[in-house]
Amino acid sequence: MAGPDALQELGGLLARLPGIGERTAQRLAFHMLGQPPGYAAELGRVIAQLHARVQRCGRCGNFCEGPLCRICEDPRREAGVLCIVARVQDLMALERVGAFRGRYHVLHKLLAPLEGVGPMDLPLDALLQRIEPEGVRELIIATPLSVEGEATALYITEVVRSRGIAVSRIASGMPHGGELEYADPITLGRAFDGRRAL
Ligand SMILES: [Zn+2]
Repeated sequence: MAGPDALQELGGLLARLPGIGERTAQRLAFHMLGQPPGYAAELGRVIAQLHARVQRCGRCGNFCEGPLCRICEDPRREAGVLCIVARVQDLMALERVGAFRGRYHVLHKLLAPLEGVGPMDLPLDALLQRIEPEGVRELIIATPLSVEGEATALYITEVVRSRGIAVSRIASGMPHGGELEYADPITLGRAFDGRRAL
């Protein structure tokens, strides 16, 4: 981008965002400059505070701004049933569908031995520690239907097998290898309702 350094710098940073090419980054940078200065100031403030404000829920791993997330704090959520997801985006996709009224456990990772992610890297101790105090009797594993997602589901099933907990897996029918986040709500709702016992 030929132009003032500040615009070049902003364009360069925006171009690092997923799905944003250099031309779009340039367009966005010029757009911000065309807005009242307060907009850029507020955008900058929120971005600067992002990591300090957002933390992981001490219980389920969801993102939140306090010790516990809104779902864990909500007494109307059914206790005893946990849905295991890989990412917070998957939790949000399921919440949009409204198919689940229990609580979650967010892994933030999937087993991927070739990338150096092994069983010890999954937050399963935290999961096991929830079983007794929360009276967990059922796990619904909603990791993606990819190789890593399936391997993770099998591993978790093995880990909890001896604890008398019902384990089920969301059904196929999802786009293969697809992330929950990108599934349409009807497909996701069906996959959830059609889960099978493991
Ligand atoms: Zn939580």
